[in-house]
Order: sequence, then C-alpha cells, then structure tokens
Amino acid sequence: MSAPSDSQRMEKIVSLCKRRGFIFQSSEIYGGLNGLWDYGPLGVELKRNLKDYWWRVMVHERDDVVGMDGSILMNRAVWKASGHEDTFSDPMVDCRSCKARLRADQVIDKGKGRQCPVCGGKDLTEPRSFNLMFKTYVGATEDESSITYLRPETAQAIFVQFKNILDVSRKKLPFGIAQIGKAFRNEINPRNFTFRSREFEQMELEYFCRAEEGMKLLEYWKEERLKFYENIGIPRSKLHVLTVSDDERAFYSKGTYDIEYDFPFGRQELEGVAYRTDYDLSQHQKASGKSLEYFDEERKQKFIPHVVEPSAGVDRTVLALICEAYSEDQAPDDKGKMETRIVLRFHPRIAPVKCAVFPLLKNKEQLVAKAKEIVDLLRPNLFVFYDESGAIGRRYRRQDEIGTPFGVTVDFETLGEKDSALRDTVTLRERDSMKQERVAIKDLVTLLISRIA
Ligand code: ATP
Repeated sequence: MSAPSDSQRMEKIVSLCKRRGFIFQSSEIYGGLNGLWDYGPLGVELKRNLKDYWWRVMVHERDDVVGMDGSILMNRAVWKASGHEDTFSDPMVDCRSCKARLRADQVIDKGKGRQCPVCGGKDLTEPRSFNLMFKTYVGATEDESSITYLRPETAQAIFVQFKNILDVSRKKLPFGIAQIGKAFRNEINPRNFTFRSREFEQMELEYFCRAEEGMKLLEYWKEERLKFYENIGIPRSKLHVLTVSDDERAFYSKGTYDIEYDFPFGRQELEGVAYRTDYDLSQHQKASGKSLEYFDEERKQKFIPHVVEPSAGVDRTVLALICEAYSEDQAPDDKGKMETRIVLRFHPRIAPVKCAVFPLLKNKEQLVAKAKEIVDLLRPNLFVFYDESGAIGRRYRRQDEIGTPFGVTVDFETLGEKDSALRDTVTLRERDSMKQERVAIKDLVTLLISRIA
C-alpha cells in the first residue's frame, strides 16, 4: 500500500484521536474555542505516562534535582521583572482590506511592497506589539492595581522560589528544580492540531550552576534530553538539534538549542535547551530587593548562580508520540482474509493501556471468571483493560488501534480441559509482531513489568 501523503496522514491521526478518545476540541458542542483542546480517557493516560516518566528521569532518579509545583497566577511584579510584560510579544500587522490580523513575519514582501497573504491587499498597518500573555484581575476590583497574567511559562515560579528551595533542600551547586504545569499564551495563530495551543503544559528544569560550568552543562542537557526522547520511542533519526543563531537567541542567553521533530506537517520545535546565564535570578533580585545569592562554603564566595534550562512541551511531545506511533499494516481478519490494520506502535512505557485481558468467549462462565481473576492480579501493577465483546480478532484490533502493547487471552487450555500441563497458562500476544506465546499466569506480572520497564 502506498504511504499516504503527510497531510492525509495528519488527517487520519486527528480523526483517530477523536474517534478513540485521545483528544477532543475544547467546548466542542458550542463550536469549540480556537487553540484549546481536551484530552479524553486515552489521551489523559498517555499524557500522564509521559509526565510521570519525565518526573522519574529528571527528579526521582537523580540526587541533584528536586521538584516543585507553583501557582499559575503570580504577583504582577514577577512578569515585570522577567521582562514578559514589556517584551513577550509578537509584532502584528492588520490588513485594512480584509481585517486579517497577521504576524509581521507572515506578511509577504517580494520587493514590491508589503502584501496581505489572505486577500493580497496592500493596505496594511505598521507592525504593533501584541502581548501574548492573558491578562486577568485578582480580587473584586478590576483596575490597574489588580492586574496579573496567566503564566506564559512555568520557569518564573522556580526562579522566585529559588531561595526557599535552596534553604530547605540544602543542595549544593550544580542542582536543579523541576516543575510540570500549565502555561498560557494568547497565540495569534494556533495551528497544527495541538502543536500550537493557547493553553498547554510544560515540563521545565532550571539547573543552577557556576558561570564556568554553563556551556558544558548546556551540552550535557541537550544530550540527556535527546536520550529521553529515544527512551519514549522517538528515534534519533527523526530528532534534530538546531543551534539558535546569535540574532535569534534571547539577548541574555549564551547558547540555545531547539530540539526538533519531523512532524507530518514539517520539522518543528519540541523543546528548547537554553543557557540563560544569571539573567532571571539577577532580575528578580534587583526588582524584589531580596538576595537570591548562593554562598559557596568551600570558596567562601557569594554569587548569583547561572542556569541551564531544558524546557519541553507536554502537548507537543504527546502529539509527536502519536504521530510517531501511527502506522498501518496488513493483518488477517477472523476468517484469515488480509485487511488494513491501524496500529499505534507506542513504546510500552508510555502506552495508555498496558495490557488487555480477554476471555475467549463471553458466555462461558469459567473463562470469564478466570479472565477477571487475571485482571485483579495485574491491576495493582499496571493499567489493564478487560474486554469480552465481539470476536477475538476484533478485540485485538481495537487494542492495536489504541496502542495496547500486550493482550492476554484466557481460553479452554487455561482451564486445563485439553491438556492439564497447560492449566493456568494464557496466550500472551504482542501488538507489533502479533506473535503469541504461552505463559503461566503466575509469571505474568513479572514478565509484563520487565517488558514495560
Ligand atoms: P515556538 O517558537 O514554537 O512558539 P517557543 O520557542 O516560544 O516556541 P518556549 O518559550 O521555548 O517556546 O517554550 C518551551 C516549550 O514549550 C516549547 O519547546 C514547546 O514545546 C512548548 N510550547 C511553547 N509554546 C507552545 C504552544 N503555544 N503550544 C504548545 N506548546 C508550546
């Protein structure tokens, strides 16, 4: 079968996401709201597995990183000091003919003057700043003194809690503070499904260090983050490291990499890894008047630490995982006729459901009872799904489509009816190869855990 073109592939992915309950349009019954999405029963599991794995690798498996969970609304002074209130904006141009609002870099200029890409009109306003932060008011009065913003990144909460966390964790440099949480940006042009949303989640680490370690740690974290993506099933060949050029980099950064992925709609950023120097802590120290210095006991020196920041998007990574996993192949149906099979080849580690359990027939009480016993056995260790309806081939196919890596079938051999040596064994089917093996029920938990890791 010929491979579908990339836009067809993307359409199929979007449709599967809705059909199987990964991702829905937010407020869909009211016509939706642009750039906002809801995760359904399977999407929420996938997202949670990704966040849990990030937390495990970035926090639990390390001695030098601690976590935190900051509030979404913070004192407006935070956004003034960080520079977001003045500079977190995209320059925008309005077309007076068709009223389109365009990002200045989308306006066509082929040497014959600026032109609207929507209507071709040439009556355009000068670029004006459009702040990407959502403004809101705290408390009963809506005036200048009650303004704040929904945070556009999680990082600032880490910077403003630096001192508290340093005091309580007693960490020595280099050490990091990690956080996963919502961020909001009033993007002008949300697009490519969840890729550019107005509400999204970030997984950020601020890794504090001495100035002289910054560049080396930038390289270190770039490599660690590439390994992370490989460990969740995104091959190195589809990942690209873009060195952000001097003129595109934030003025305070001494080096920034974008980790990009080949999405069906093109190569796009998954994560930024930036050496932000001591800019953020210095800004907050200046603005708050509170010391954010670190005291180096060995050298008897006080200084503001530098920081390297790997900042990843949860939603973009979920989308990359789905795009990477989506595949179509040929598999026999219940009558042995070949048919197209849709399969999400998720790494077992992040697959929403780890194992499906089926009694061969739903009207055989003993098969059903045994299958339910197996569900109870597995459930404390992994997320399992019980399904007794329809032909077994159909049931496998439904699980393939949502990326369940393992299927356990309880049949008459499990009951020892044909061969007593097979009593209390089941068929374990692997999603990608469709290979089946006979496994003792007592070995199932250990076996599955070792294959899911
Ligand atoms: P872009 O250039 O694509 O707008 P950015 O460079 O502004 O992204 P950062 O500020 O570095 O993004 O944010 C870190 C990460 O947060 C990004 O790599 C991305 O994964 C995620 N992210 C940023 N903006 C969005 C968005 N609008 N929707 C979904 N994820 C986002």
